[in-house]
Order: sequence, then C-alpha cells, then structure tokens
Amino acid sequence: MKKIAVLPGDGIGAEIIAQAVRVLRTLEPQGLVLEMAEAPVGGTAYDLSGDPLPKATLDLARSADAILFGSVGGWQWDKLPREKRPEQAILGLRKELKLFANLRPAVIYPELAAASTLKAEVVSGMDVLIIRELTGDIYFGQPRGIRTNAAGEREGFDTMLYAESEIRRIARVGFESALKRNRRLCSVDKANVLETSQLWRDVVTEVAKDYPTVELSHMYVDNAAMQLLRNPRQFDVIVTGNMFGDILSDEASMLTGSIGMLPSASLDANGKGLYEPIHGSAPDIAGKDVANPLATILSAAMLLRYSLDQDAFARRIEGAVSAVLAKGLRTSDIAEKGEPVIGTRAMGDAVVAALAIPG
Ligand code: NAD
Repeated sequence: MKKIAVLPGDGIGAEIIAQAVRVLRTLEPQGLVLEMAEAPVGGTAYDLSGDPLPKATLDLARSADAILFGSVGGWQWDKLPREKRPEQAILGLRKELKLFANLRPAVIYPELAAASTLKAEVVSGMDVLIIRELTGDIYFGQPRGIRTNAAGEREGFDTMLYAESEIRRIARVGFESALKRNRRLCSVDKANVLETSQLWRDVVTEVAKDYPTVELSHMYVDNAAMQLLRNPRQFDVIVTGNMFGDILSDEASMLTGSIGMLPSASLDANGKGLYEPIHGSAPDIAGKDVANPLATILSAAMLLRYSLDQDAFARRIEGAVSAVLAKGLRTSDIAEKGEPVIGTRAMGDAVVAALAIPG
C-alpha cells in the first residue's frame, strides 16, 4: 500500500491540508488505496521539539512514497537563528530526499482569466508546466565568492556548472512529463552565450532520441520570458536550469493572477515527491477559515499523478476543481469585487461533493 506523509506545518497549513486529506479520503471508496500518516513540521515542530524538522518527521518522510506539505513560517519564529527557522524544514527535506526536479503547472481557469494582469484573450487556455532543476547551476557551483582583484577592487563571482548526468536526469523528467500531457517539450537555455547551456542543449537533444513521440524545441531564456507574456498558450512543458527556472516559474505563476490556485511538486530520481502549494503560510489569514485550499487540493492531484501513477484519480480531482469554479464558488482571494465568497471548509465541501459522484 502506498504511504503518504502528511505535513501540515504552520499558519494556514493545517486548514488547507485538512481539505486536501478529505478530498483524498473521498476517493477511497472509489478504489484509491493509500495510507496517510501525519507529523509536525516547521515552527509548529520547533515549538514541540526545538527542531523545525524533527528526526521522526524526516524518518516518516523518508519511509513514505510521497509527502503532502502545507506551508511553514510565521512572524513568531522570525528571530530564531537561521538553522532553527521553519523554512529550514523545507530546505532540509529537499536536501535529504534529493528532490532535484521542481514541477510547477500554471493553468488559467476560464472563470478566473480576468484575475491575470494580461488580457483575458492572451492568457485564456494557458496550461504550461514549468520544470526547474533544483540542486545545481550557478546557485551551488564552486568556486564562488567575493575577492579583491589585481587592481585592488572587490569582485564577486559564481560558477554556472552542470554535469551531464544532472542535465540528463532533469531532461528525462521533462520528456516523461510531456508524455503525460500534450507531448511538446521546450528546453530553455542561453546556448548562444553560455558553455553550460551549450552542453545542456546537446544533452537534452541526445535524451530526445529515447522519446520519439515528444516534439522537442529549444528557446533562449530571454525569448522564453517574452513568449510567456506574448503567447503563453504555445507552451506545453518547459524544462530549464535552476536560475532560469526560478525566474520563469514565478513569471508564469503571476500570469494566472491567483496564488491560492497553484500547486507544485519536487521530485527525486525515483518519482518520490514532495507536493505543496506555491504560496506560504499566510499568517495574516491563518485560523480564519478564509484561505483558498485549492492549490493544496491540486497538489494532492499532482501527488496521485507523479508519485502514485494514478492519473485517472488526479484528473477527477482537477475536474472537480474546475466544476466548483464553473459553479461560481469563490474564496475571497479569487473573487471579483462584490462576488459572494465562501470559506476554506466550504470550498473543501464543494470539491468533495463534486467528487462524490463517481466519474
Ligand atoms: P504568503 O504566500 O504566505 O502570503 C502572501 C499573500 O497571499 C498574503 O496576503 C496571504 O494572505 C495571501 N495568500 C497566500 N496563500 C493564500 C491562500 N491559500 N488563500 C488566500 N490567500 C492566500 O507569503 P508571505 O506573506 O511572504 O510569507 C508568509 C510566511 O510563509 C513567511 O514566514 C514565509 O517565509 C513563508 N513561506 C513559506 C513557503 C513554504 O512553506 N514553502 C513559501 C513561501 C513563503
């Protein structure tokens, strides 16, 4: 039986995770078999044990097939030394579990197209998956530092570096993900200027030979940043390095205009993953039953698709979310001025009700 570690965390974490767990439980009588076990993480765990990522929580995450994560952080822990801060839990999990591939879908729901900063006719129909390499590139390459040069002036330097094996494994995630979607993969680099990018392009092109049914294209990162604004519908899956992905994934999420709607996944080489909404712990609205649980519910759908190979159930959840939006149900973050709003639990109820009818 597949095991899921459920780590609600801080702020709105417990409220939104509770709804995602209900949604998963609703699918059990319809044939979804899984075991869920919960553990504290982040500031909540620090308060209980003095450690934002206690050994028992890490052991549970290690033993699980997938992790459903809420969010961590809050002002009450901001003055702690860096290694005790809630955010260390997520960094620690990424490192310990070797989660190297970050997947962020940015989808525009027709009903929410007006929330985008772009014109509805440009963004409507946008459905792009951005895959960012998480553990290499200029963020981790050595040497790096600030030194004094021969002219006596300070200079800062970093090393952009990717080993062939690192490019190959993230490229595979890109191609495999494209197979689960519309079979188009765009690899983003800066091969006209950077050696690292030239190797990136060569290796991705080599890996493409194993995926003859996926249409591969290459794009320079500056052009990709423009094309996302000009015509985001042209993309299916984008795969790119750590720094370019950092920037492009934020750009793509903002195009949807609704932080409460966007899920994400961070995967290891064997398909195990950590699934979480892209937003934080929203301490300003915690405990008020107003947070939007849909990003977390959609993260649970990604978990079923990428770690449990249960694509049909994932689609059921995504379909249920579309159905509640089509019915006009809105939490306050996605409501237009004057529209009636519902709370976290009522939004969970609506998704559960939409799923209760076997599809
Ligand atoms: P945030 O994403 O928590 O909140 C930004 C704004 O969006 C707030 O106004 C909040 O109310 C709103 N918001 C966020 N999620 C929402 C939801 N589901 N429904 C409705 N509104 C929502 O970002 P922040 O305020 O910069 O950070 C708060 C805390 O979260 C900090 O401690 C930060 O370190 C932490 N954080 C954690 C993660 C993570 O756990 N992976 C990610 C980002 C930030």
